[in-house]
Amino acid sequence: MTGAEEKVAHNAIDAARALLTGACLDFIKANSQYDPLKVLDDLQRGGGFQYRDRSNAAGEIKHGGRGSSDTIFLTNSFFNPGQTYFFLKGSNIVLDVAGFQQEVVLHELRHALIGRHPIGGSSEDYDRGIRENCFKQPEGGSQ
Ligand SMILES: [Zn+2]
Repeated sequence: MTGAEEKVAHNAIDAARALLTGACLDFIKANSQYDPLKVLDDLQRGGGFQYRDRSNAAGEIKHGGRGSSDTIFLTNSFFNPGQTYFFLKGSNIVLDVAGFQQEVVLHELRHALIGRHPIGGSSEDYDRGIRENCFKQPEGGSQ
């Protein structure tokens, strides 16, 4: 990653970390034996986030399920997302660039914690869960 890309990545990781409480933390951890916050810290500090040149993709996991010894690849669409990524079928939660990048970090972190998508499961299932549990606006909200 270039210096500028490093900064974008670390900002997204730090913002994703701040989301990891309550229902969001539970969803990302799922049935994992690992502590999501520890794994995220270990990956961030230990070179566990790397760039990979892959078009039409935002993130990839090297193995899946290996916790702090896994590697998360941030790929081309992470840094240059098209607007289509802000929308997701089956969800009325629309993300901006920063939110999308946090979603990618959380998505790949979940892979590091529990492994790859199950047979018949889709990437969108993860993202719908992330939007519902980590990005949902509080009911009623403030003025
Ligand atoms: Zn995935």
